[in-house]
Amino acid sequence: MTLRCARAFSVFLITLLFLVNMAEGAGPEAIRLADGVYAFIGENGSTNSGFVVTEEGVVVIDSQGPRELALTLRSKIRAVTDKPVIYVINTHYHGDHTFGNQYFTENLIAIVSHEATRELLIERDAGHREMFLKFFGPESLLDFKLTLPQVTFTERLTLRAGEKTLELVSVPKAHTEGDIYVYMPEEKILFAGDLLYKGRLPFMNDGDSLGAVKAVDELLTYGAARIVPGHGGLSDRDDAAAYKGYLTDLRAEVKRLKESGKTLEEVKGEIRLPKYSLWYMYNEWLPANAAKVYTELD
Ligand SMILES: [Zn+2]
Repeated sequence: MTLRCARAFSVFLITLLFLVNMAEGAGPEAIRLADGVYAFIGENGSTNSGFVVTEEGVVVIDSQGPRELALTLRSKIRAVTDKPVIYVINTHYHGDHTFGNQYFTENLIAIVSHEATRELLIERDAGHREMFLKFFGPESLLDFKLTLPQVTFTERLTLRAGEKTLELVSVPKAHTEGDIYVYMPEEKILFAGDLLYKGRLPFMNDGDSLGAVKAVDELLTYGAARIVPGHGGLSDRDDAAAYKGYLTDLRAEVKRLKESGKTLEEVKGEIRLPKYSLWYMYNEWLPANAAKVYTELD
């Protein structure tokens, strides 16, 4: 082999290794946050979950939605421990956080949620599935079986599993009716569900924008070292403050446009928040976010 040939070959090998690594790096990741505590971070702002490995078994926080992602979450848990999943917590009713419940029932003690989450899963089942299939495609609900929470609460609940303590706390209507977040006081880790998004516009249609601002304020009262948002990468208090900034800027801009006499359709067409233009779903969801705030102001 000539020198030039050898060089070309090594460049080829390096490129190949790089591509293989890229392929392996693709897909959601499980990140260890503390002893036994993991964040499962979706790709490109898609849904996050968490899991906590205890002496007695595993607690899953949000079971994902599309079949394939729920199974990926299950295999990421299996890669860390062979202990059974004993609890699943649903932070709110949205299918991307709950439709995977059926894949974690084998050794389950209970699925736990706010009472309203269980009610909404039942009441909205048909329309909810229809919307989900439009978004995630027909394969996403293959063999789907609605799998409801069995333990519900309305204010707060302390879940002790093995040596771990999880505080489940509800907030007034914010992202949905029935949102909860999960705080682990010893580890200072907070699983925010969709009360927090990082680098992505939220889905707001089931919630209340002022309630969403207040919920972020409540999250900020915790001295959480790490926050796992419902969507987007691992977060801290600065990310929570940035998300609150989006919500308050959106509210202020819609109010300004409305007070200048703009109709709902005009506001949807004209709204711009350039500070957030690099966030995921900026073009797709900004008009809908603005419309939601506009109707709230009526
Ligand atoms: Zn949601």
